[in-house]
Amino acid sequence: MTELTHFYDLFKPSHYAIALDIDREKKLISGQTTIDGTATQAAISIHQKDLAIETVQANGETVPFTVDNAADAINISLKAAGDVTLAITYTAPLTDSMMGIYPSYYEVAGQRKQLIGTQFETNFARQAFPGVDEPEAKATFDLAVKFDEQPGETIIANMPEERVVDGYHYFATTVRMSTYLIAFAFGDLQSKLMTTKSGVQVGVFATKAHQPKELDFALDIAKRSIEFYEDFYQTPYPLPHSWQLALPDFSAGAMENWGLVTYREAYLTLDPDNTALDTKQLVATVIAHELAHQWFGDLVTMKWWDDLWLNESFANMMEYVAIDAIEPDWHIWELFQTSDVPAALSRDATDGVQSVHVQVENPAEIDALFDAAIVYAKGARMLVMVRALIGDNALRQGLKAYFEAHQYGNATGADLWAALGEAAKMDVGAMMQSWLEQPGYPVVTASVIDGQLTLKQAQFFIGDGQATGRQWQIPLNSNYSAVPAIMKDQAVVLGNYDDLRTAAGEPFRLNVGNNSHFIVKYDQQLLDDITSHAEELDAISKLQLLQDLRLLAEGNQLSYAEVVPLLTRFADDPATVVNAALYRVAGDLKRFVTPDSADETALKQLYNKLSQTQLARLGWTPKKGEANDDQLTRPYVLSASLYAENEAAITTAHQLFTANQDRLATLPADTRVFILTNEVKHFGSQALFDELLEAYRQTSDASYKADIRVALTSTPDPELIRQIVAQFENADTIKPQDLRGWFRGVLANDKGQQVAWDWIRNDWQWLEDTVGGDMEFTTYITVITGIFKTAERLAEFKAFFEPKLNTPGLTREIKMDIRVIETRVALINSEKAAVNEAVQAAIQ
Ligand SMILES: [Zn+2]
Repeated sequence: MTELTHFYDLFKPSHYAIALDIDREKKLISGQTTIDGTATQAAISIHQKDLAIETVQANGETVPFTVDNAADAINISLKAAGDVTLAITYTAPLTDSMMGIYPSYYEVAGQRKQLIGTQFETNFARQAFPGVDEPEAKATFDLAVKFDEQPGETIIANMPEERVVDGYHYFATTVRMSTYLIAFAFGDLQSKLMTTKSGVQVGVFATKAHQPKELDFALDIAKRSIEFYEDFYQTPYPLPHSWQLALPDFSAGAMENWGLVTYREAYLTLDPDNTALDTKQLVATVIAHELAHQWFGDLVTMKWWDDLWLNESFANMMEYVAIDAIEPDWHIWELFQTSDVPAALSRDATDGVQSVHVQVENPAEIDALFDAAIVYAKGARMLVMVRALIGDNALRQGLKAYFEAHQYGNATGADLWAALGEAAKMDVGAMMQSWLEQPGYPVVTASVIDGQLTLKQAQFFIGDGQATGRQWQIPLNSNYSAVPAIMKDQAVVLGNYDDLRTAAGEPFRLNVGNNSHFIVKYDQQLLDDITSHAEELDAISKLQLLQDLRLLAEGNQLSYAEVVPLLTRFADDPATVVNAALYRVAGDLKRFVTPDSADETALKQLYNKLSQTQLARLGWTPKKGEANDDQLTRPYVLSASLYAENEAAITTAHQLFTANQDRLATLPADTRVFILTNEVKHFGSQALFDELLEAYRQTSDASYKADIRVALTSTPDPELIRQIVAQFENADTIKPQDLRGWFRGVLANDKGQQVAWDWIRNDWQWLEDTVGGDMEFTTYITVITGIFKTAERLAEFKAFFEPKLNTPGLTREIKMDIRVIETRVALINSEKAAVNEAVQAAIQ
């Protein structure tokens, strides 16, 4: 990879004064930026993108400059190196790209409105003002913003507003910070505020399309999260306020701008009176994630983007640590086990995946680094391993030292390991090296060889993989005391198995608690011992058993047919984590059946068998005061019973629909999606379609919107599918930020797949123009990959995407995705008969 120059090496800014005049009507930004800094040589470069530069002055004198758009640069010739004040005037267009400074659109009482906000990570600050747009180039900022202001409009930013002069709103000087964390927003906002125990003002802001009560949940979680972090980190929140702002158009999930965190509306506002528990949990973890960043990421920032994982992995772990502390009854780590863990294990098993830590220079590749399953999920699991190893006391002590040493500055992974290692008196860095620098993870084979219990590690692959002899330092967490804490070698012999088994009095197990990033392949004797005592396992261990067997089946190391019998054994388990793992395997089985075949009928019977007892126990209506596990398990059971075409379930759902026809939004949020989907599938009509689509356009409740989307995209009617796809490019109905979900829904629908696939191929250029600069863009390809399973689709996928292999940021994704579909097609071919036979046997 070519080494690009970091502009920070040439020019070190210390202070910016940025004045922006934003005209929404003309879609024009006029800016004036002065930068105090030190030039290390006379010829310097600073960043800009899509700015029309008018003048550049240095110390009050006009100086020559050139603009290099390919390098996002303004090249400036100074008289000499040394301290300098640059003053630059420019204009820039206000575009709908969801990057830089951009408008969000929404309606209140039929009136179309705009809210202007910002998104500067990774490198879009350069679209708003010139400067050294690199995380290491920390400086202080004076921000002033003027706009075509209407009565009642509010403007907010990282720091409190100090004064208004000539229409410019001046904000207090920031602390030393990175450019990508600058943020502001203005429009017709509503807000609710509270103060933490330590005096930090916490606020939630949203458009007036929301009911005021929709801000309450976020406000409570934000306040308590900040209080938690101040205590856990033993470091005060560094700013006077912490604003949370919901933006109607937002490409990522949320963004940790210092003091002004921005969110997708779905991740901030919710109706406290009718929102499912899993949605509340998700929103709470997103808020806790962003607030974890206020210290880890904002106060101390990665030196360069190659350490992006440092920010994201850490925040991803801390969101669970924080929510577990403030809402202990939620058992939020279970969500980690059912979402992050399987995502990381699946993605990380494909050859060609990135390591957590990656070298990166090219801006387009920086965005491709946000591989969520690796940088967020796997990285978090690495840190969970560290936490388990060193304990919370050392973690907290190490973090406090880390913040003290690097606050208002930058750090690398090595700095964190040094601080944690010092606190724990352990060489944390050495152990983490094998996990962060190498892609993939090991399968540990446990077998009895000549009477000796033996462990071996090898890299685990789903699909073809080149074994390159990678080894890991694996925390084994066994229930047998003869097992070392960490496995460093390729193989280890533990001693006579019969003696060990007698002494322990229970089956041999590894990775108890499922906190280390590896899977276990037990030989038949050891596996039989575990499964014959399976009912004694705790819920996480049952999840783990199903999860590891599922992965081994995906990796062709055992047959899915061997996993099927376990499903019926665990089907009545009340624990959500068990049902999550169970229905994940059951969902995999759908790939082995052809639509409308006898095999499909048999699989539906299996689904009925799996779900019927729990359906009778839980019913369709959430009960007041029922256990969290019951609330969270019900959706799995209802979904299964509807897939099974259970007559009673279909009838009940239809009755619930009919009885609530004039107030569908008030159906319980836990079950609403199933009632709507059932209606569209079995009792659908153009009138129902129109009614639901209109409700989708009107509601400000993101979870109701999502329910309608799921319901509509499940229609079997080709004409209605055509009507949905016709809305894909109509931002007034389907916002670009929400399009992927719609596309996925139609593509996953057997009756809609062809239309959706044709659409994305025909209109790829439109898609690239609309969301192409977005860090989530590649996930459109991932979505397709998650669904395709036939040789024909594989060939079409290759024909379409292989010519795009050289597109920066897409190369790795396309290569990996071809491998994933190839592997799935081969697995279905080789396993189809055995799986369907096992399903037949299970329904007898
Ligand atoms: Zn984050």
